[in-house]
Amino acid sequence: MNDLLPIIDDITGKKRPIIIAGPCSAESQDQVMDAARALKQLGVDVFRAGIWKPRTRPGGFEGVGVVGLPWLKRVHDELGMRVATEIANHSHAEAALAFGLDTIWIGARTAANPFAMQEIADTIRASGRAAELTVLVKNPVNPDLELWIGALQRIYNAGVRRLGGIHRGFTAYGKHIYRNQPQWHIPFELARRYPNLPILCDPSHIGGRRELISPLCQQAMDMGYEGLIIESHCDPDQAWSDAAQQVTPEALGVILDSLVIRDVRQTTESLGMMRREIDRLDNELLEVLNRRMAVCRDVGRYKLEHRMPVVQTSRYKDIISSRMDSGEKMGMSPDFIRNVFTAVHEESVRQQVKIHNESNENPETPAR
Ligand code: PEP
Ligand code: MN
Repeated sequence: MNDLLPIIDDITGKKRPIIIAGPCSAESQDQVMDAARALKQLGVDVFRAGIWKPRTRPGGFEGVGVVGLPWLKRVHDELGMRVATEIANHSHAEAALAFGLDTIWIGARTAANPFAMQEIADTIRASGRAAELTVLVKNPVNPDLELWIGALQRIYNAGVRRLGGIHRGFTAYGKHIYRNQPQWHIPFELARRYPNLPILCDPSHIGGRRELISPLCQQAMDMGYEGLIIESHCDPDQAWSDAAQQVTPEALGVILDSLVIRDVRQTTESLGMMRREIDRLDNELLEVLNRRMAVCRDVGRYKLEHRMPVVQTSRYKDIISSRMDSGEKMGMSPDFIRNVFTAVHEESVRQQVKIHNESNENPETPAR
């Protein structure tokens, strides 16, 4: 993917960030036109609206379907805006291309499915319009960089050269601050491997909540993203999909005005980006260590109840030697791994001994 063209001819390269904005879903012709007029005023480059909506569970609003295509065309014809919509299979691709759309994105669930990606790629190739299309491929829902690259390659192999990635975060089980975990290192690695591939950030689907959009936009700009795709609806609370994460065009204007755009091509900025990545990884390390200590304390309580000694030498030896083996296979020095795990083990023992001591001091705790 070395001969990529700017994703949008007259925009990329001249302006950063490219702004794509619009409602999660097209709901009615008036809703689409009202949002598009307000967003055009803000100088938004591309208007987005989904007409086929992938819903996690049945029974939700699944998009207006092909009846929305003329609404999008009206945005283009009357307001002169570029318009984009999501396609997820052969028939969507065929309908969107037959209607003359020139910008499409592929959603995160579709990007995770090689059969669907190939079907879309084949439809694009057969249409004979690959050269004039701009295709943006969201990251797959699961944090699998190879799958994302594979999805991009299928579209590239169909003849598309205006190709870009959209980082919209990755699914994680349970409740978290973000709706989809950013895992910045994944798009970061994509950018490292394909420096010519434009990557946009979708703070709406990463954050899942309005108040997270502004800080995520700034973070994306600081990390050198080419653009942003943001969900915007004139009456977000009444939106038929993704209500919590949509902002009014007015709020979007405030977010965009407050963005600080730095030239991240400067070496100091790239260094800053890498340092932020190191900070993030160190925090991850601390969290993992903390979880390990919590499990060790549970083990300490179990040993106390079963009158077992805190340190069991054979277990200690197994831990150190197996971690040294694994670390060496990953390219780290066995001495380094021995030092790290000796320190980790010492802290685990200290925390377990503390539990024993507390139980001796407090006769309420049954020591049996
Ligand atoms: C969307 O952009 O509205 C959408 C459904 O996105 P994703 O594929 O990221 O969930
Ligand atoms: Mn959405």
